[in-house]
Amino acid sequence: MHIQPEIAVAAIPTDERVWVPQAPDVWFRPLLLNTVSGGWCNLLRVRKSGVLSRHRHPMAVVGYVIKGKWFYREHDWVAETGSFVYEPPGEVHTLEVPADCPEMITFFNIQGAMIYLDADGHQTGFEDVWTKIDMCRAHYRAVGLGADYVDQFVR
Ligand code: FE
Repeated sequence: MHIQPEIAVAAIPTDERVWVPQAPDVWFRPLLLNTVSGGWCNLLRVRKSGVLSRHRHPMAVVGYVIKGKWFYREHDWVAETGSFVYEPPGEVHTLEVPADCPEMITFFNIQGAMIYLDADGHQTGFEDVWTKIDMCRAHYRAVGLGADYVDQFVR
C-alpha cells in the first residue's frame, strides 16, 4: 500500500530524444526525479571541452564515470571511466572536460540543488528537482515524446 513503483530502465537510452539539452553540447538524461527527498539521479553527457560550470552543492553528490573523463579546477585529481566521485556538502568547484576527451558520460546522484556561481562566488542560478522536471517537460513536449514522458522518472 502506498509504495511507489520502482524504476528499472536502460540508463543510456536508444532514443536520442530522451537526452535533455542543458547547454550547447551538454545534455542530461533523467533517471530519478525525487520530489520527496529533493534531488535527482541523471546521466550528464558532454561533447565539448572546456569549463561547464562553477557551482556549489548544499548537499552531498555522488557520481560514477561511465565514459570519458573530467576534473574540477580546484582539485588535482581527474575522474576517468570507472571512477567514483563523492562531493561533500559545501564544496565549490568548476567542472571542466579536457581537450582530449570528445565525450564524457557520468552518472550523478545530486541531493538538494545545484547552486551556480560566478568567479566572485555570487549566485547566478540554481537547479533543483522542480526545475529539472520543468526542463524535461518542455523538451519532451517539443520533441514529440509528450510532456508526460517525464512522469515515469518522478517519485
Ligand atoms: Fe559538483
